[in-house]
Amino acid sequence: MVPIPRVGPGAEFEPLRIGRTERVFVLTGAGVSAESGVRTFRDAGGAGFAGDGRRPQGGASIGLWYEHRIEDVATAKGFERDPRMVWRFYSERRRQLPSVKPNPAHQALARLAQEREVFLCTQNVDDLHERAGSPEVVHMHGELLRSRCHSCERPSFVDAAGYFEEPPRCRCGGLLRPHVVWFGEIPFHLERIFAALDKCDLFLCVGSSGAVHPAAGFVSHLRHTGRARCIYLGLERPDNAYAFDECRLGKAGELLPGLVDLR
Ligand SMILES: [Zn+2]
Repeated sequence: MVPIPRVGPGAEFEPLRIGRTERVFVLTGAGVSAESGVRTFRDAGGAGFAGDGRRPQGGASIGLWYEHRIEDVATAKGFERDPRMVWRFYSERRRQLPSVKPNPAHQALARLAQEREVFLCTQNVDDLHERAGSPEVVHMHGELLRSRCHSCERPSFVDAAGYFEEPPRCRCGGLLRPHVVWFGEIPFHLERIFAALDKCDLFLCVGSSGAVHPAAGFVSHLRHTGRARCIYLGLERPDNAYAFDECRLGKAGELLPGLVDLR
């Protein structure tokens, strides 16, 4: 028997009690960044980006964002075809990042980490969790403010620069690329992430559409172990709603600050 999830407006739910010793795994997706005004591919016709992208239906050509197609700016092939254009795209996003501010959802999660053991995993590539004060953020889809070499094994490094003319090069001579996970690439930190999932008592999924794997599969993974409570929180019913105990619908910035009862 699979229990039926309770799905409804977040305001109709009781605050969530989290015991002192409970371990909380938080997954955040594009919905959280969108409430700060970070634009995503989804805004422009069903295809997400900000780390929580839905793959477009029927081929990769409908995901327009700022006049760009996903296959041009979010795949290794697109980068190899036109690194200058791809760098212009990410440089523009880097330039806009300081004008975007953390919202009450980011702040509530930072406060939660002061009170409880929290593993914060995000699909977002922006730095809003860090700026809200979250002590440790696992960026499974990489970080906009880091670069790495497209050729050699040199580790990624902090890089907030904009490259609007020539694409930057590594000291090995290869091209540098943004340190973000593109479509067709394997997300980062999966070993740590699954180890934390296996230990958690509460899985809190905030603003993640449930359409992008592997993140969309975290809740099903937990269903098999059968131990953690699984709560979704976000504006829209996720594609994987069936796998949660509860789906609390609403803006994360409005629901999260009052969500948790830490008594
Ligand atoms: Zn290199």
